[in-house]
Amino acid sequence: KPIVLSGCQPSGQLSIGNYIGALRQWVKMQDTHDCKFMLVDQHAITVRQEAEKLQQATLDGLALYLACGLDPAKSTVFIQSHVPEHSQLAWVLNCYTQMGELNRMTQFKDKSQRHASNINAGLFTYPALMAADILLYQANEVPVGDDQKQHLEMTRNVAERFNNLYGDIFTIPEPMIPKVGARVMSLQEPTKKMSKSDDNPNNFVGLLEEPKKILKKIKKAVTDSDEQARIYFNQEEKPGVSNLLSIMSAATGKSIDELVPEYEDKMYGHLKVDVAESVVAMLEPIQQRYHEMRNDQAFLQQVMKQGADKAREASAKTLSDVYKAVGFVPYP
Ligand code: ATP
Ligand code: MG
Repeated sequence: KPIVLSGCQPSGQLSIGNYIGALRQWVKMQDTHDCKFMLVDQHAITVRQEAEKLQQATLDGLALYLACGLDPAKSTVFIQSHVPEHSQLAWVLNCYTQMGELNRMTQFKDKSQRHASNINAGLFTYPALMAADILLYQANEVPVGDDQKQHLEMTRNVAERFNNLYGDIFTIPEPMIPKVGARVMSLQEPTKKMSKSDDNPNNFVGLLEEPKKILKKIKKAVTDSDEQARIYFNQEEKPGVSNLLSIMSAATGKSIDELVPEYEDKMYGHLKVDVAESVVAMLEPIQQRYHEMRNDQAFLQQVMKQGADKAREASAKTLSDVYKAVGFVPYP
């Protein structure tokens, strides 16, 4: 089976962007692929986190993964910091990644603007840790949103560079970016992507939010300031309306072309109520399963332990091959 790896940062509550762009695809791949899905807490600390909140968000994220349909019997589900091989390989890859290529990463540019008082080295080398996450498992496919395309491209370049020096150590991974929902946009600023760590909570919808709050946020969403309040899909002319249509398309499974005629003579208000209802319906079963699981500490502990053990076993060979390749003396 082809190997798949992906993850989300516990840098806040997982959002509908994470679900539509990533998690939803993961669930579907479990029968046909050998899947590794993690919560990347080590990536999360590239931005300052409160310790207690990070811990809770990680456990919430784990319960949400399971509630969304990740099955620990089929897939390896784990917490990144439980598998030391990630940071071990990341160090080596740091030494095979150029400053120049890291400098081109748009995520670094965005995040260093947003966190100008804490532009730390980890934020800069984030893509090298991400490359380690992927290459450690010889992943063939990496299902992610559009925003991670550039990091994936860099991962491929680093892997090829390493292979050219030392032989076929790494599998070169392919990005898997969904056709619908690859870039869910912010509700208030629909020209930038929705992010769970956004300072303004009105910009995103969290997977655990109550129906009333979801309706309120979507009603407040920026539509478009052009004269005619017409509803049609055009990301340049109508970024806000187009984002709402995309969200509804992802939530209902109907195509944009099917949806647009339904709103021909309707107003923004109608559209918003329908979008909110479709999101609530999508989240309802997830929230229900989440609440059943979140307080079962023994169960979550067992999932984490089993996942980490499986992940360590799967990653040991790559790390030892890499250590050998670069010339580290094997541990006696
Ligand atoms: P942060 O703001 O902390 O970076 P995030 O919302 O960007 O959080 P990540 O944990 O960085 O979420 O990304 C997890 C996965 O979700 C990645 O595969 C990413 O491509 C995907 N993703 C994130 N935001 C979106 C979005 N707006 N639309 C589609 N996919 C997204
Ligand atoms: Mg992100």
